[in-house]
Amino acid sequence: MSKHKKYDIAIVGGGLSGLSLACLLGRHGLKIACIDQADPKTKPQDLRTTAISYGSRKVLEKAEIWEGIAETCPIEDIQILDGGSSTLLEFLSREVENKAFGWIVDNHDLKQAMIQRLKTLGNVSHIAPAKVSGFKIGDAGANVQLEDGSVIEAKLIIGADGRFSGVRDFMKREYGLRTRQWSYHQRAVICTVSHQNPHHNIAVEHFWPEGPFAILPFADDQDGIHRSSVVFTEHGPEKNSLMHMSDEEFEVALAARFPASYGDVKLIGRRAAYPLGLVHAEDYIAPRMVLVADAAHGIHPIAGQGLNLGFRDLDVLDELIGKAHKTGQDIASAELLEEYQRRRRPDNMAMVAMTDGLNRLFSNNIMPVRAFRRSGLKLVSRLKPAKDFFMKQAMGDR
Ligand SMILES: Cc1cc2nc3c(=O)[nH]c(=O)nc-3n(C[C@H](O)[C@H](O)[C@H](O)COP(=O)(O)OP(=O)(O)OC[C@H]3O[C@@H](n4cnc5c(N)ncnc54)[C@H](O)[C@@H]3O)c2cc1C
Repeated sequence: MSKHKKYDIAIVGGGLSGLSLACLLGRHGLKIACIDQADPKTKPQDLRTTAISYGSRKVLEKAEIWEGIAETCPIEDIQILDGGSSTLLEFLSREVENKAFGWIVDNHDLKQAMIQRLKTLGNVSHIAPAKVSGFKIGDAGANVQLEDGSVIEAKLIIGADGRFSGVRDFMKREYGLRTRQWSYHQRAVICTVSHQNPHHNIAVEHFWPEGPFAILPFADDQDGIHRSSVVFTEHGPEKNSLMHMSDEEFEVALAARFPASYGDVKLIGRRAAYPLGLVHAEDYIAPRMVLVADAAHGIHPIAGQGLNLGFRDLDVLDELIGKAHKTGQDIASAELLEEYQRRRRPDNMAMVAMTDGLNRLFSNNIMPVRAFRRSGLKLVSRLKPAKDFFMKQAMGDR
């Protein structure tokens, strides 16, 4: 790569949000660089699946990524259980005009579909592996410095570099941006399993005092083996983690959590663990800089909404930049960036508060709290407007 290159927009981070945004913005004919430190040719590190909401699917369709995803599995029923109780709350997609609540997709497949789509856009460059090491902001433009000494010049820098965002750190140092963050002292251990009986496209969220245990329906494999992905939340010292169990011990732990209707459950492949915490920037913008997705707000995965929330940022930013470019206005103007922040902050703050509150309410075995949440769930189950509200939230359709 030459030492100095000029683009309209530099996206720092080519994870699921950065790549999607590159595909969205590429449609407007803007010259985009999407930079990521990870080598796209190396074996996948991300073993997770993601529940893509109805609203996020529309964004992926707009970016022409959706049709390239190898496998998707619809969620048609969501069952919520509390501790050792039977189902307390059930959402059925046929209650919302037969639409699926969402689709489970493999993160690696999703990323590959994004990279393939990006390759069809001549005006978008995927610069990877390349590590961003610094920034320089001027009145007329900005520079992104790479570790190999190269410089990327752009009118706007978008931070899509995840919950440990270096763009956010720079904004903190240079412009005093403040961030709220704390640890949940929990880890999400994730894996894929096979099971004897079909899952019937049911997602199960089972709340235990140590954190939620989720079973997400995944597509059968080529031999018709039934599969689901699991998010097993744990707390306590790392030395006692489920990660240190043998596969056999782990399968016993899974069997104790799985409903009997699944039959025998077997682990497929490896497990991975993610420490859980919250991070939310008080501002998302600075001169010629803007944060999106996890770089702006990393939330608890309790409701499977982190990336879905990020996609709503991308949708708004794409709309504003597309409109400014079409009418010959500055794509990095303070007015544009302020409008993005104004439109996105309330939704993000509400989701931060909801996921944080849900985790506190459910990761708690104190008797009055348990009684309160059980009666609350039963109430939601009986009140149609409340139930409709939660179903719409799950679908991310607004
Ligand atoms: C267990 C678990 C389950 C989840 N399930 C769901 C779900 O079902 N549904 C949902 O919507 N969300 C879910 N989420 C949340 C979702 O995974 C995140 O919101 C999403 O991955 C964030 O994507 P991102 O692109 O913003 O950030 P990241 O995935 O963190 O990507 C950031 C990218 O930036 C790159 N980068 C960082 N620094 C630099 C640098 N200096 N130079 C170059 N590149 C850099 C990194 O290499 C990386 O590729 C889950 C999260 C967890 C932990």
